[in-house]
Amino acid sequence: MHFHTIIVGAGPGGLACARILAEQGIQPLVIERHETIGTKVCAGGITLGGLIDRVPRDLVEKSFPVQHITTHLQRACIEEPVPIIATVNRVKLGAHMAHQALAAGARIMSGWQVKAIGGQRVIVEQKESRKQVEITFDWLVGADGSSSLVRRKLGLANNRMGIGINYQINGDLNKMEWHLNNQFFSNGYGWIFPHGETVSIGAYLPKATKTVMSAQALKKGLVSWARIQGFSLEREQARAEYINYDYQGWKFGRIFLIGDAAGLASGLTGEGIYPAIISGEETARVIIDPDHSPAIMEGLIRKHGLHRRMADWTGSSPAFNFLAGELVTIGLRCGILKFSKLEMAI
Ligand SMILES: Cc1cc2nc3c(=O)[nH]c(=O)nc-3n(C[C@H](O)[C@H](O)[C@H](O)COP(=O)(O)OP(=O)(O)OC[C@H]3O[C@@H](n4cnc5c(N)ncnc54)[C@H](O)[C@@H]3O)c2cc1C
Repeated sequence: MHFHTIIVGAGPGGLACARILAEQGIQPLVIERHETIGTKVCAGGITLGGLIDRVPRDLVEKSFPVQHITTHLQRACIEEPVPIIATVNRVKLGAHMAHQALAAGARIMSGWQVKAIGGQRVIVEQKESRKQVEITFDWLVGADGSSSLVRRKLGLANNRMGIGINYQINGDLNKMEWHLNNQFFSNGYGWIFPHGETVSIGAYLPKATKTVMSAQALKKGLVSWARIQGFSLEREQARAEYINYDYQGWKFGRIFLIGDAAGLASGLTGEGIYPAIISGEETARVIIDPDHSPAIMEGLIRKHGLHRRMADWTGSSPAFNFLAGELVTIGLRCGILKFSKLEMAI
């Protein structure tokens, strides 16, 4: 079997890339190890500048014009005339994006895992039957998330890996909350993101090699903090994953990396759906036309660099972290700083 472009991973990045390619008459093959698309652990937050206008309204679970931020010294309500952040269910988003890609003419093999890459071929294995197939390609796109096999094949290190922990519990809440408290989250933060009939309660920690807080300590901090907020998480199921923000390039000859595989998530906030979609779309445009100007990609990389430097800075000292949290919140309250500046949207 041969495909012009093989995309490893049917996350938002891979599916966005597949849709654009297929719309231009190139049939890409998307290979996804899970049978169901979109089962990724995620708080499902999307931003106004980023994606709210790009997803159909019926996919939005809840949207929030007011953000509640709690720091050591402040409790702030940041209000905008329109919703700044909304929540989506990742399985529904995955189904929607897969439908769009398939309708445009892409092919998706779900339940198949890429096991090996060599030359211009991949070996894929069906998870249930263990049947293996070799498929050749002209172009390969690594859209396979933070533990990317394609990235490993390229020999790139991962020195900046955020940790995200999520509990999705039953409940009908209407207040979106961010908590900056280094006692529980070091230079990360805890969140309460209401969805339809559930609530995402979780924590994110940007973790460069020198950062000291471990994933276990973050989980312990999250559970203790949640108890203070009135949530008992001890018997709930935690799901955790890395969020790669160690960007080291996206074009490597016939191989591209996008989204988390490229390390394009925000080091500061862990926001990764938007960078995955934008980098997926831009990669498709470059595959279609090698002379395509990657201005959008360059803007995304600049914003990513800013977030990475801020995450490095807040991680370098508890005092800097404390100061940054308080100053950013004061800036937001006074309107000097806009929430959109903290988004990955370009
Ligand atoms: C706890 C937590 C909360 C988060 N909350 C938010 C949030 O609120 N908002 C936000 O914007 N971002 C959030 N993120 C980050 C966001 O989930 C990711 O940045 C985003 O999903 C990246 O998209 P992607 O397409 O690059 O990769 P992914 O969504 O990770 O998709 C990669 C796909 O590749 C597949 N795959 C991997 N290896 C193989 C293989 N060898 N063969 C075949 N398939 C393979 C995987 O199964 C997966 O489906 C959160 C992350 C975590 C961990």
